[in-house]
Amino acid sequence: MSLTSTPNIVVLGTGFSAFSFVKKVDASLLNVTVVSPRNHFLFTPLLPSTTVGTIEFRSIIESIRVARPEVEYIQAYAHSADLERNILVSEGALDQTRFELPYDYLVIAVGSKSNTYGIPGVGEYTLPLKELADARAIRQRIIECFEQAANPAITDTESKHLLQFVVVGGGPTGVEFAAEMNDFLVDDLRKVYPSLLPFVQITVLEGSHQLLGTFDATLQEYTARMFRRQRINVRMGSLVVRVADLRAVELTGPAEAVSERQITVSWTVENRGAVPALLQWYDTVYLSTDPFYDGNDRHVGDLWAGDRVPLGPGETYTAGQAFALPNLGVGERFLLFITDRYENQAETDETDNVLVRPITLVGPDLIVSDSVSPESAVLNGTVDVSWTVTNQGAVPAPADWYDYVVLSANAFLDAFVHASLQPAIGVNWETWREVGMAAATLN
Ligand SMILES: Cc1cc2nc3c(=O)[nH]c(=O)nc-3n(C[C@H](O)[C@H](O)[C@H](O)COP(=O)(O)OP(=O)(O)OC[C@H]3O[C@@H](n4cnc5c(N)ncnc54)[C@H](O)[C@@H]3O)c2cc1C
Repeated sequence: MSLTSTPNIVVLGTGFSAFSFVKKVDASLLNVTVVSPRNHFLFTPLLPSTTVGTIEFRSIIESIRVARPEVEYIQAYAHSADLERNILVSEGALDQTRFELPYDYLVIAVGSKSNTYGIPGVGEYTLPLKELADARAIRQRIIECFEQAANPAITDTESKHLLQFVVVGGGPTGVEFAAEMNDFLVDDLRKVYPSLLPFVQITVLEGSHQLLGTFDATLQEYTARMFRRQRINVRMGSLVVRVADLRAVELTGPAEAVSERQITVSWTVENRGAVPALLQWYDTVYLSTDPFYDGNDRHVGDLWAGDRVPLGPGETYTAGQAFALPNLGVGERFLLFITDRYENQAETDETDNVLVRPITLVGPDLIVSDSVSPESAVLNGTVDVSWTVTNQGAVPAPADWYDYVVLSANAFLDAFVHASLQPAIGVNWETWREVGMAAATLN
């Protein structure tokens, strides 16, 4: 540093430490340059409130450029520093371009990264809460879950799953988020989605045996009491050290079945993870025309696996259930079985939850023959007609149906398209029988 020139001071970060320093530093005595990927200060204590909209995002940030216009700001990450030559190497936050900055003084206030404690799956399957973008992502996800659950095609079971919110950690941030989420439900969502409220569940997982472990006992007890009253589910001693891995290992069911008839399916699920599967889930069966689980499958039924929880490492359960098959025609079809269909339980491997089993759907085959009717008739008179219906399929025809007698000017059955030309002259309500007899009125 020369004694005559103005010293350069480079500040890394725009968080609590860096921002309060930059706000106070005398910019007439120093050339101040701030290097930070974030162009604003973020007041983290109020971040949980923004996830549910109690406080708007803009209310908890302060732009560095507005707060100190006389300070130079560069949106970049510090990469490394040459402490011999007093050179900082940085990378543009938006385009990763590298550049060097000489400095006389370097203030390092880059904070810390969110710690996943090396727990496999946490990085991939959870939403952190540290930056504004995280709060936005959580808010967006909450809205998506509610909108999805409000879709009329979604079953109650699916709604219950979409609206199960799990907070990992019963420290100040986790407790605050759970409380904010609950207030949001009670104050706002109750009015907007009244029918969905019974499906919502908030669960807080805490590794120790106390919420707010660093606070005094009175506050801990008060929080636990409040959460009980608000029906926030708290699981103490639930240390998420690794996520479980549910795997569908066996599926049995009939090789042949009739559409719309009941079949019994049984399956075995194993937890191949290193830790118990703690969160409740549903097992789901679908029927499909192809062996792929792809969203075009027809829902057959769900089984609540809540009573299997916790499922320890290496533990299995076998469940069975009778389901009525949807009508998917006859032919080669597939039963798809999915454990934890709604992905409640974060897993190290989500790809081994599906089992496929071929099933042949058979059905009846009705044919009509031996129809007897007069060769001539008088308009508005009555005719006697009879016919024979035979089921030449492999299984009984289980449903009721109508037999129709139609008068036509030609030999083609298009009466239902041109009803005025070919009015139905008689309808005979039949359950299945071999020979039909009906008296029809000729119009
Ligand atoms: C949701 C939440 C709630 C909280 N509530 C409270 C509370 O109520 N009370 C309390 O005391 N504490 C609370 N905290 C903790 C508090 O936010 C932190 O202790 C505080 O932010 C730490 O300040 P800091 O300046 O060290 O780092 P931060 O405030 O994290 O700032 C770090 C800065 O460095 C920047 N940076 C990161 N990498 C680089 C890089 N390579 N180069 C340049 N810049 C970089 C970041 O963009 C950021 O601007 C909360 C934290 C969270 C996440």
